[in-house]
Amino acid sequence: MVSRVIPVDTFDLVIFGGTGDLARRKILPGLYRRYLAGQMNADSRIIGAARAKNTVEQFRDLIHAALVEFVPKDRQEPADMAAFLAHLDYVAIDAKEESGWTNLKAILRPNVVRAFYFSVAPALFGDLAERLHAHHITDAGSRIVLEKPFGRDLISARALNATLSKYFSEAQIYRIDHYLGKETVQNLMAVRFANILFEPIWKAQYIDHVQITVAETMGVEGRGAYYDKSGAMRDMVQNHMMQLLCLIAMEPPYHFDPDAVRDEKVKVIRALQPITSAEIVRGQYLAGKDDGGYIEHSQDPNSKTESYIALKVEIANWRWKGTPFYLRTGKKLRARYSEIAITFKEPPHSIFDDANGWKPNVLVIRLQPNEGMNLMVMIKEPGPGGMRLMQVPLDMTFADALGADADDVPDAYERLIMDVIRGNQTLFMRGDEVEAAWAWTDPIIQGWEARGDRPQGYDAGSSGPEDALMLLHRDGRRWREIKE
Ligand code: NAP
Repeated sequence: MVSRVIPVDTFDLVIFGGTGDLARRKILPGLYRRYLAGQMNADSRIIGAARAKNTVEQFRDLIHAALVEFVPKDRQEPADMAAFLAHLDYVAIDAKEESGWTNLKAILRPNVVRAFYFSVAPALFGDLAERLHAHHITDAGSRIVLEKPFGRDLISARALNATLSKYFSEAQIYRIDHYLGKETVQNLMAVRFANILFEPIWKAQYIDHVQITVAETMGVEGRGAYYDKSGAMRDMVQNHMMQLLCLIAMEPPYHFDPDAVRDEKVKVIRALQPITSAEIVRGQYLAGKDDGGYIEHSQDPNSKTESYIALKVEIANWRWKGTPFYLRTGKKLRARYSEIAITFKEPPHSIFDDANGWKPNVLVIRLQPNEGMNLMVMIKEPGPGGMRLMQVPLDMTFADALGADADDVPDAYERLIMDVIRGNQTLFMRGDEVEAAWAWTDPIIQGWEARGDRPQGYDAGSSGPEDALMLLHRDGRRWREIKE
């Protein structure tokens, strides 16, 4: 199988925060890989912008070091890296000051795609948007790309949307949720809407429940001060997990078109039921043998921020009434593991005398590691001894199915940046989608803040707090194991 790489139009991509962690770890290594793949043409340029008074050479040296650190060794051909770095330019700009903007304007070219990546603290988004507009650097064809977090509640998200909309139309705004750029996540849409097999049974009548798990082994480490203002609900559920839930639960869009897809996702978010305190479990990891607990990394010894959350979510519409979605995500868990597991109901009537071995069909979509899908099906246990049942996986690990091409699958950032240049917003969050997600999330957070709820401690390296087990036990169900 040969990957098809279609070069994108010539672009000038300005990365505000071009010297920061995200730019060095993800954005520029991603662009380098797209360059190697032949997707970025010879005239395209990447312009770093930050306050530091770097020369172009200093910026290229910084990015060279980043490529050495973050790109696999077998992709570090010196001639390739030098050729890529020649596309880089740099302008010193402070988002809050007026100097530097004229220099930026002077180096941008007419008649090429102009995109501005805001890889800076969200507090600067408004300043950047305003100055880009005031200095006549953007026109109707320009795009801006925003990193998360997009607000910390409905009020702040609305205010940010209102500020941006003073200077840019919705069609120019690309709000990144990098989960949507993951190959497997997009595959959810292909699996659901390009196969007849699943759709007829994709409903409460046949699906018992859905589990969405995003487990990390890392703790908050040096990010305690930032994380204390966020927590798992704001950091993971309001955005990434909500997107996964939408892709599982949405109605088929009429076309694979940005607004058609996003219209259907918004409908799911609006149909989410309010949840009670009994349907939420929050946890905070405790000190382990070698490392402090959450509290030791936080700057507040009384922090009530959750590093783990589990929720039972219900969607009030015809398709899903009666099928709960259980969401859980946390730090310092047993394994780095993300999956969506769709558990089907039992057949209406068993024809087998010994139905003891019966287990439900489960469709498991693994997001990491080993991206792929598993469909657990019942078969006859081989050999004599009557009709005994056993469960086996129909396993499709994408790396096996795609062979060598699996190595060339672009990572989330690569794909999303190329989509910005192509002008395709399908995998970016629309303003109303973000607001709808906050509108559902806000009362939940306000509820535990008003009650003064304290998260339950859990051991580092475990699968989360005890109460999370109860959340499913009460419903006669169990969480799937968190494992590599
Ligand atoms: P960072 O390492 O602190 O870098 C911040 C960048 O912004 C630096 O290049 C900095 O350079 C520049 N900057 C700071 N103040 C500025 C100003 N007034 N005007 C112009 N440039 C300014 O931050 P980061 O981790 O890269 O994160 C950037 C954004 O991505 C944040 O919104 C963050 O929430 C989001 N994000 C990051 C990650 C990640 O893995 N790092 C993941 C998801 C989302 P100077 O100091 O020279 O100005």
